[in-house]
Order: sequence, then C-alpha cells, then structure tokens
Amino acid sequence: MALIVHKYGGTSVGSPERIRNVARRVAKWQRAGHKVAVVVSAMSGETNRLIGLAREVQAEPDARELDVVASTGEQVTVGLLAMALKAIGVNARSYTGPQVRVLTDSAFTKARILTIDAERLHADLDAGTVVVVAGFQGEDRDGNITTLGRGGSDTSAVALAAALKAEECLIYTDVDGVYTTDPRIVAEARRLHTITFEEMLEMASLGSKVLQIRSVEFAGKYRVRLRVLSSLTDPDMPLEEEAASGTLITFEEDPTMEQAAISGIAFTRDEAKITLSAVPDRPGMAYQILGPIADANIDVDMIIQNNSVGGLTDFSFTVNRSEYAKAMDVLNEKVKAHIGAGNVVGDARICKVSVVGIGMRSHVGIASIMFRTLSEEGINIQMISTSEIKISCIVEDKYMELAVSSLHKAFGLEQAPAK
Ligand code: ADP
Ligand code: ASP
Ligand code: MG
Repeated sequence: MALIVHKYGGTSVGSPERIRNVARRVAKWQRAGHKVAVVVSAMSGETNRLIGLAREVQAEPDARELDVVASTGEQVTVGLLAMALKAIGVNARSYTGPQVRVLTDSAFTKARILTIDAERLHADLDAGTVVVVAGFQGEDRDGNITTLGRGGSDTSAVALAAALKAEECLIYTDVDGVYTTDPRIVAEARRLHTITFEEMLEMASLGSKVLQIRSVEFAGKYRVRLRVLSSLTDPDMPLEEEAASGTLITFEEDPTMEQAAISGIAFTRDEAKITLSAVPDRPGMAYQILGPIADANIDVDMIIQNNSVGGLTDFSFTVNRSEYAKAMDVLNEKVKAHIGAGNVVGDARICKVSVVGIGMRSHVGIASIMFRTLSEEGINIQMISTSEIKISCIVEDKYMELAVSSLHKAFGLEQAPAK
C-alpha cells in the first residue's frame, strides 16, 4: 500500500465522460489498496476562456482579480470529479487550494508555493477517502487567491506529493510520456522510457510544455518520483502495466544504457529579440542597457554583442514575448538617448530551438552537427547560447518546424522502424 498523487490535465478532464473515466482509474488504484490524492486542472480551453473574459472587461486585467477569475476553472473540475467518484461508490472529497492551505507568495498570476498543510489531507486519506485538490491555485498570507502560472497544476501535484511524502507522482496527460520532441510537431518523435531530471529541467525551461518547469524544480528539490503517462488508455487496464508505462524522470543516469548524444529537442515561440544599434563600445554599456530592463522586472534570456567597428557595436538580447512591448518602451524612453545609441529595433518573429542531452558531456561535435543541419536547410542562426547539456539557436519563426524536424533526423532521434 502506497500513497500516490495523480494529476490530470485539461484534456484528461475535458468532458463529463473523461471525468468519469478518471474516476474509474482512480477507483482502480484505491481498490488496489493505495491512498490516492488527485490534482486536477480546469477542463481544456476553460482557463483561456476565463482569461479572455477578463480581458473583455479590462484590457490589462488587474492581476489580483484575474487570479480570482482564472482559478475558478479548477473549482469546477474538483467538484465534478468528486461527484463522479461518489457515483461509483468511492469516498471522495474535493478541496480548493486555499481550503488545504496551499500557501504561496503574492506574485499574482505567477505565484510560488511556499507550504501546503498536509494534515487535513492525511486525515482523509487515512480514513480511506480520495482527496481531489484543485491545481493551479493557492492563497497568500493575506488570504488572497493566487495562481501559479500557466501549466501550474503540474507544480501543484508535485508540491502536494512532496508535502504528503507520496511514493510517486503520476502526471496523466494527453500523450503517453515525454517524447524526443513534441509529437504534434514531429510525427516520428519517440517516447523516452526514462529521462534524467537534469534533462527534463532543461527541456521544460526551453519550452517543452509537457511539464511546467517549476514542477520539475520541485521534484528535484524534494526528490519526488515523477512519471508522465497517458490518461487516454483504458481506465481498467491492469494496474501493474499502467504503473510501469510512460516516462520516468530519473535522478541517475542508467549506466547500462549507451548514452545518446542528444535526448531531446525543445522549442519555443515565447521570445522576442531586441537590438540596439550603434551603441558606443565602452565599459558599463551592458549595465546601462540591461539595468533599466531589470528594474522593470523583465527577465532577459540570450544576449549577444558584436565586435565593435569604429567604436560602435550592436547589442541584442531576447525577452519573453509577453514583456516585449514593455522592454521596447524602457529602451526607447530610458536608455537610447541616455547612452547615445543609434536605433532600437525589435523582432517578435523569432523562435528558439534547443538540443538537450547529458550525452553532450562525452560527445564532441554536437554544435557543429546542429549548425551544419540548419545551414543545409538554409536557416540563418541569429543567436546562439550553450550550457553543459544544451545548445540553443534563435532562428526566424517560420523555420521552426523545419529546424526541429531536420535536427530530430540529424541526431537520429526518430522512431525505430517497425519490424
Ligand atoms: P495537460 O493539459 O495534461 O497538462 P499539456 O498540454 O500541458 O497537457 O502538455 C501535454 C502536451 O505537451 C502534449 O500534448 C504535447 O503536445 C506537448 N509536448 C511538448 N513537448 C513534448 C515532449 N517532448 N513530449 C511530450 N509532449 C510534449
Ligand atoms: N488550467 C491552468 C492552465 O490552463 C493550469 C493547468 O492546466 O495546469 O494553465
Ligand atoms: Mg500542462
């Protein structure tokens, strides 16, 4: 008998029928003797609808009130799932985030979980009740409702698993595991049986939305055993088979496996590039450009500065697309004239494509394969950044699919051909 946390995403609870299927699956685990805590997202499309509604009323919605609105989607699904469980004879109770004291900081729309009060849930679980907890939401110290950022139910689930000291956290979703890249973009993508925590962290941070990055950070910090698997299989399939399916996030490399150079490819359209041209090349320039950007609470990702010609240089960096307009305003109003730069040019038609793999530590020439592949496709690289286990390139966004699929092929990540 173990304590297990299940998490079901939007598609997995997208209709009354799917919710009934989730209930059957949860019942199967409970009847096998496990204590089950379930975290659910809002029904698919619901959070977008709620945010859209808020924007219709206030163009730039007040962040506190936006969280009041956006968090309601999950309240619906916890109630419905508890009903579906009761309907098949399983004791269940639904809880909102604040009801189980998911305490967060006060950063509305992107709050971080600080603590969860596990006592009440343990009492229910010990009494044989399935607890159904709303993902994506919590409350701050003043009792304000907060949300955890898009995709935040993953983080709710892992944080709950850590607080409850659960044996495993199972993330049920609309794909049957973590793939070498998003299977919606590359049909030949292959499911990974395991992926190391470090690689998953890079994949998530570089745009693979299968897990929210903070959930992976939590799993690392609290050593939560984490598995991604399908919610769309037969809910009555044998439990042992289900428990071993999907992708396990591991903390150690498998020494018996020959390490592939690259494990996966991530991509994102969430960034925009900004270039200041004809910047005087003298000490303190990067600080004078990026200081005001940091003061405006804008995160910078990649940075590139060209060699200076005649004492002038170009300085480019990327920011999240949602902060692009704000960053342009800061540069135009506070930086350009102050440092005597020529021009501020923005480009939101970019994407970032990254190859990730701990095998990079022992394989040489990965960067050159990546650059050669992109060049053979006629794709110009605008910016490059590297770490020990990843290489990222900024390219024009119209080439995103082509870049991802050609790199997938170049690194031999395709599905093994059927026998
Ligand atoms: P949920 O609603 O269950 O949280 P998400 O839509 O947030 O589901 O995440 C699952 C989706 O992540 C998949 O449908 C897939 O398109 C996308 N995805 C992106 N990268 C990957 C990857 N490397 N492996 C699997 N899925 C991926
Ligand atoms: N419902 C929230 C969202 O759409 C949280 C989640 O699905 O994880 O972002
Ligand atoms: Mg998700």
